[in-house]
Amino acid sequence: MPARILDGAKIAKEIRSEVAAEVKAMAAAGRRPGLAVVLVGHNPASEIYVRGKVKASAEVGIYGEQLTPPENVSTAELLKLVEDLNRRDDIDGILIQLPLPPQVDAKKVLMAVDPAKDVDGFHPVNVGFLSTQRDGLIPCTPAGVIEILRRSQIPIAGQEAVVVGRSDIVGKPAAMLLLNGNATVTVCHSKTRDLAEVCRRADILVAAIGRAGMITSDFVKPGATVIDVGMNKVTDPAEFQRLFGWGSKLDSELDSKRAEIFRAKGSTLVGDVHPQVAEVAGALTPVPGGVGPLTIAMLMYNTVKAAKMRNSGRTGHDHRH
Ligand code: NAP
Repeated sequence: MPARILDGAKIAKEIRSEVAAEVKAMAAAGRRPGLAVVLVGHNPASEIYVRGKVKASAEVGIYGEQLTPPENVSTAELLKLVEDLNRRDDIDGILIQLPLPPQVDAKKVLMAVDPAKDVDGFHPVNVGFLSTQRDGLIPCTPAGVIEILRRSQIPIAGQEAVVVGRSDIVGKPAAMLLLNGNATVTVCHSKTRDLAEVCRRADILVAAIGRAGMITSDFVKPGATVIDVGMNKVTDPAEFQRLFGWGSKLDSELDSKRAEIFRAKGSTLVGDVHPQVAEVAGALTPVPGGVGPLTIAMLMYNTVKAAKMRNSGRTGHDHRH
């Protein structure tokens, strides 16, 4: 039986409308949440991401401000800008779009963001809150993974969860959230032995690797839930054939449409999970339309959460028990 497809776009929409209702109430009380996005220089991918974030803010009623220092900005100048945003009362969330240019000490800049406004959840204070199960700001993509599971009624407690990838922004926080949800968690990476065998233990398999279609059917226990975080641009026709040209799959309406777009555009967005996994998994997030839409929805959620925490007069870390 083919896997149940977990519709991330629909879940993200639900979250955004919940957030919009909260923003409306806060704005009516004179406390409209505000998000500042710092975009340095002219990285085309970053520009697209930032545009999406600012647009989403407007849609849910959050005040969005974009700051665009030039490509040659210094660390000191960026630190000054962050300090100003830290002090501003109308700004609840600060997001520094990565990557920063090489002359900038990115770690120093990220460390300067007030943890109470760190809507990306990357500051070590928030990382510490997550690992000690205190209330804080959680990185958006892994928080989205958990929302997909919860809102799809997929149990976490007591389940075997395997996370492939150990990055600070996805793999590690995803593993920590699953552990906090009482799963039994294994974290895999490029040095893991017998990766397929370890993955086959999973009731919940999270792929956050950055390699198109690496997780094939032999990595997946029949009936398992597979969450595909990967976003890979495929341009090579042979690679496209490996991913979509097997069996009769290209006959399916969805994949023949994808083939059409690939021929026209010369590229397609593919996850870390091979499409054939849909025939083994119990539930699966598609790419696009799975985890991706949740990332921005959770950024909106975090901005409102940061605003609520600040409104209740609780700043920094002293309010969190
Ligand atoms: P990353 O920092 O490059 O981390 C990749 C992880 O995968 C590393 O831990 C690496 O192991 C592991 N890995 C690489 N090759 C492997 C292999 N052959 N076998 C086992 N493990 C392997 O990437 P990331 O930032 O976490 O992102 C992962 C993917 O998620 C990317 O495709 C990215 O585009 C996507 N992503 C999507 C969203 C979204 O909104 N949907 C957001 C963020 C990221 P080592 O640690 O040993 O090197």
